[in-house]
Amino acid sequence: MVAVFTLIDALGWTYLKDRDFLPEVLTYRAEVRTVLGFSSAAIPTLLSGLLPRESEHWNLFYYDPDKSPFKWVRWLRFLPRSVLNSRIMRRGIRFVAQRRSRFGGYFQIYGVPTELLPYFDICEKRDIYKPGGVPFSIFDHLEKLGIRYKAYSYHGFKDEEIVRLARRDLSQKNCDFLFLYLSELDAFLHHRCQDENLVEREIRRYEGWLRELYEEACRAHGETAFFLFSDHGMTPKRSGYDLVGRITPLGFQMPRDYLALYDSTMARFWFFNDRARRGIGQALEGLDCGHILRHEELHGLGIDFPHTRNGELVFLMNPGVLIEPSFFGAKGPEGMHGFHPDDPYSSAAFLSNRVPSRPVETLVDVNEVMREWAEAVHSNIYA
Ligand SMILES: [Zn+2]
Repeated sequence: MVAVFTLIDALGWTYLKDRDFLPEVLTYRAEVRTVLGFSSAAIPTLLSGLLPRESEHWNLFYYDPDKSPFKWVRWLRFLPRSVLNSRIMRRGIRFVAQRRSRFGGYFQIYGVPTELLPYFDICEKRDIYKPGGVPFSIFDHLEKLGIRYKAYSYHGFKDEEIVRLARRDLSQKNCDFLFLYLSELDAFLHHRCQDENLVEREIRRYEGWLRELYEEACRAHGETAFFLFSDHGMTPKRSGYDLVGRITPLGFQMPRDYLALYDSTMARFWFFNDRARRGIGQALEGLDCGHILRHEELHGLGIDFPHTRNGELVFLMNPGVLIEPSFFGAKGPEGMHGFHPDDPYSSAAFLSNRVPSRPVETLVDVNEVMREWAEAVHSNIYA
């Protein structure tokens, strides 16, 4: 027996619900509620079964000036901002930070302005597709059970290569549990999600790969438990809103009065005095392009942390409305994820050739399915 789990980044439920996908195999199909955030939140929840408040994996950057791997960047303060934020400089800073932090992670600094980096640390310091990458990781569980497993991710290969490697490993029968992370559909949907023909073609390409994978698994191992799932969906862009242009003219200074990180779907704020807290808070309350997440809502979303490192105030944009410009670029792409999980386009998907013992409704449930199959593979081997 072999269990094959394939995670396709951003292949949301809206892209599958009215479309057959390996229909002769994947007969169990379910819409899955994602967690608010980006892949840096959703994938750790898939791997650990923990919500962000429990795993401390949410948005990549969190406020921690004492432990920031970019602390040393302060010494470059004398440089003009344009030099500090030049491409070559940023590439160098990332390289040095990765070296100095001695973690196995492969982190990006995206568009966070260089002068703000020394205030922030990064939650993904290790390779999350390896044991110890996230607390209570499925990979720790597999190690503990002594199961022969393989995990493939973009840290090593392109999607097509991953599928090829997995097929080879299946045919050589050198593992009983496979986890494939295919990441490239995410970038495709960011830029092309509103072009139905292209989306159809791309999804069929993935369907073809999965069919090959399934056939190889059956050929080599016979009994095959086959699962396909995603971390979140992709919401088509409706409009942009210049949130930075609304906050900056209020006159408060970064980093003296406050800090703000402008992602594409949410802004997070840390305040260092009451004037800024009140002034910016009031300005945000007056906006109808999004809303401030209050305690009850944060709790329901699993992001009520016992500290303010992840943001003292979180302002979430309405589905489809992007912060433009944001730290991720002057202009947002055609599609984005990281809106409220209630938005139908945010939903992830779960498809399988086995009916799970309990309905799969959340990313935590998907983790439960992986654990169950780890146990099943284990008892099959040691039966
Ligand atoms: Zn993405």
